[in-house]
Formats: sequence, C-alpha cells, structure tokens
Amino acid sequence: MSVLPAGANRPAMKQPAQALQDILRRVHALPSESVDVLEALGRVLAEDVRATRDLPPWDNSAMDGYALRAADGLAGRPVPVAFTVAAGDNVKSLQPGQVARIMTGAPVPQGADAVIMREEVDESNPALITMRRAAAAGENIRMRGDDVTQGTTVLRAGTVVAPAEVALLCSVGRSRVRVHRRPTVAILSTGDELAELGDAPHPARIVNSNAWMLAAQVRDAGGIARVLGIAHDTREALVERLAEAKGADVLVSSGGVSVGEFDFVKEALESVGARLDFWRVAIKPGKPLAVGVLGETLVFGLPGNPVSSFVTFELFVRPTLMALQGRTVTSRRTVRAKVQGTYAKKPGMTHYLRAELSREGPLTLARMRDQQSSGALTSIAGAHGLMVVEDASSGFSDGDLLDVIVLREDWDG
Ligand code: AMP
Ligand code: MG
Repeated sequence: MSVLPAGANRPAMKQPAQALQDILRRVHALPSESVDVLEALGRVLAEDVRATRDLPPWDNSAMDGYALRAADGLAGRPVPVAFTVAAGDNVKSLQPGQVARIMTGAPVPQGADAVIMREEVDESNPALITMRRAAAAGENIRMRGDDVTQGTTVLRAGTVVAPAEVALLCSVGRSRVRVHRRPTVAILSTGDELAELGDAPHPARIVNSNAWMLAAQVRDAGGIARVLGIAHDTREALVERLAEAKGADVLVSSGGVSVGEFDFVKEALESVGARLDFWRVAIKPGKPLAVGVLGETLVFGLPGNPVSSFVTFELFVRPTLMALQGRTVTSRRTVRAKVQGTYAKKPGMTHYLRAELSREGPLTLARMRDQQSSGALTSIAGAHGLMVVEDASSGFSDGDLLDVIVLREDWDG
C-alpha cells in the first residue's frame, strides 16, 4: 500500500473490491496459541493433527448381538453362549462352535469374525441360543483402523474447527491444540457530541452507540474488543486516547474522517507515528475511510454515521479480522435474491441497501427497508442483509435479481 505524500489530501476514489484487496494484501494470520480443545471451536488450526493410534483401536461390534466364527455354520441349532463381552472389557478368546453375547462397541473376541444382531436370534434360553440365519464373515464388525490409521493426518492446519472437529481431536487424544490467536481490537470514538453509555441525558449529546456496535461486530467476527472510549475533537484528546490502543492488533475509530475533520484525524494519527492512507471508497453508505498502520497495529478510521460505520466494518474490517484468525474464507455469504421495489441511482458507486429476506418457494426475496438513511440505526437493526447495487448499475426494478450479503442467518429461509 502506498502512503500518500504529506499534504496530499485529495484521495483517489477506489472501488470496494480493490480497497478490500489492498487491505488484505498486508494482512497475515496472527501467531498461534495452544488452547483447550473446546476453546478451539470456531478457530483455525495452526498445526497438522496426526493420529497417535488407530481408530477404532480394536475390532469392535457395531450391534448388540452374538459374536461367532462365520465358517462354523451355527445357524438353525442351539449353540452355547460361552461368555458376555461388554464395551470396556478386555479382548477375550472364543472356542470353535461357541458364541459370545456382545454389546455395541465391545471388542470382538479372538476367534470370532462376525456378529449377528439380537433381533435375528432366538434367545428364549439365554444359555443356548438359536440363530435364525447364517452370519457372513465381517458382518457388523467395525475393524481396527477403519476410521483412522495411526500416523495419518486427521486435520490439516487451516481447518476451521466445528463441533465434529472437536470430537475428532478428542478421539486422537488431543486435549489442547494450536490455533491462530484472536485479534484484539481497540475501539475509539471521536466527537464532542458523544456521551458515554449510562451518562445522564444531555440536550446536546447522543450516546456513543458506535463503540458498542463495533465491539459487538468485533466479537461476532471472532475478535476481542477493547472499548477505549470517547476522544473529544481536539488533537490532544485524540493523541491521549490513541496511546491506549498500544498493543492491539487492530485499531478501529469512528467519526472524524469526513471532509471537515479529515486533516485533523490524519494529523493526530500521524503525530503518534501512524502511516495512513485516506481513501474515498466508491460506496454508499460510507465513502471516507482511513487505512494504515501504527507500529504493529492495523488502523481503520471509519466514518461516524452509524450505518456507515456498520457497513464499512462489514466490508473491510470483518474480512481483516477473519484473515488475522487464519481464515481463507473472509467474506460473508451472498444469496441471489429477487428484489421487491424499485431503486434509482447514478452509476459510479456501489450502494449497499439494508434489506429483509424471505422465501417464496425456491426463490429468495429481498425487500429494501423503507428507512435507508445512513444515520438511522433502524435501517440496520433487524436487517437480514445488504443488497449490493453494483457501481455501474442505475438501480433496479421490481423482480430484478441482485446479490445480497447475508448479515444474519435467522431469517425464515
Ligand atoms: P462524523 O463522521 O464525525 O462527522 O460523524 C457523522 C455523524 O455520525 C454525526 O451525526 C455524529 O453525531 C454521528 N456519530 C459519530 N460518532 C458516533 C458514535 N460514536 N456513536 C453514534 N453516532 C456517532
Ligand atoms: Mg465527528
């Protein structure tokens, strides 16, 4: 990423895909840490995991039934039950012409090669059972190593751990595993009009909702949020707050990047050593965006309008947090949806409209919310997705097909 020369405060307009590419180019997965296996849920493995034993570790029964040697041809006549073998028992030995009562998961006795299920056996005399049909060799036996053989790699570095992967880790005896660290994200709000959450209502103040919204977005993306609080609109206040961001992997600020305050934020950040680019990204909402580094910390200066903060976080910060955690899929899912309503725009910018999704037979429908102001939280609260109205487009009409970025999976589809 090039850093603008001092005084160059007329940033070029970037398309969103280009902006994201320019950001992700400089992002690498964070170092790994060792965590308890349950803490690995949703994290990305930073090591290959090998099996240190066969799974299953011994031949075992897939059914409750009777273990026997198929070649003995014992069907249709009374056969003595030599012993019972339960899950957890040691391997026993079976003589020819005998059967063993066996439970699911129990080790198959030496000398046996098949299990016939209880339902196919006359057990009216429990000591002398009669099988109603012959068993085939191998029937109902889960062979040693059938699932995993010792020494094989069961999970590769880069795998996202879901519940089934937790089980697999446990089954090969891993109580701890190395995963990429979660990013820590310092959140800074700027503006003299802001009050802390919980402060008494004031006629000239609004609650600093962005900080908590962004913290929620950070947590939702797997990061660890640290809310720094409000910086007043002075260079000194901002500089003081910025010191608190030290050690964070990412710093996200909101506000103060609109044209009026542009140089002020740049000056404050640069005075503490940040190298920043200011971009105008060709998107609505959310045009101005500052991106750069402060020491080891990635810096994002988001616009202050709540919807603009929300959308620019979704488009640029969330993928960054995903990449820092070692994820290769960094974007949200999109669905192709039939739009309801009409919308007109000038070509040149991609518009992200807040939408509700629903199902109509095999189709997904997207209805644009009535409220679309970039200052109105009611436009994003409850929205299932962002309709993507491409830069070259001049809008849409009822029934057109559009991509929708799915923000929430809890819609009725
Ligand atoms: P700015 O980008 O600083 O010009 O702010 C644009 C608009 O967003 C203004 O109406 C601000 O009051 C509002 N705003 C800025 N920061 C916050 C915040 N932390 N929480 C809620 N609204 C904010
Ligand atoms: Mg402001």
